Amino acid sequence: MADLLKQLAAEWLDEITDTRLDRLAAVLANGGTAAELEAAINAVLADQHSAQMIAQTELNRADNAARMAAFRADRVYRVRWVTTSANPCPECVMNRDAGPWPLGHPFPSGVIMPPDHPHCQCHLEPA
Ligand SMILES: [Zn+2]
Repeated sequence: MADLLKQLAAEWLDEITDTRLDRLAAVLANGGTAAELEAAINAVLADQHSAQMIAQTELNRADNAARMAAFRADRVYRVRWVTTSANPCPECVMNRDAGPWPLGHPFPSGVIMPPDHPHCQCHLEPA
């Protein structure tokens, strides 16, 4: 489990850094006065919605990574994509409707486990 968390931490750092750098680059590309740039950069760095999205999505990723590790240890070979949102996105519905699926193989949307996208609330269960 420690190795899994170490691997996830490296992936999280890369993804969060890439996203933040892209947003900061967009701010700089838009230009403006020093005061305008400062305000725009502060807005990117203090974006509460973004922080909430990252926290929810990455906790879901950790939960599903732990589920997959447990399934492998328990020799679960087939899983089911479970949607829990009241209004799941079309890609998650497609994965759910694919039915029992071989553990570790990409679902129809192309991912091997939730989250499929930011704010995804889905999880895997043994099938
Ligand atoms: Zn989902």
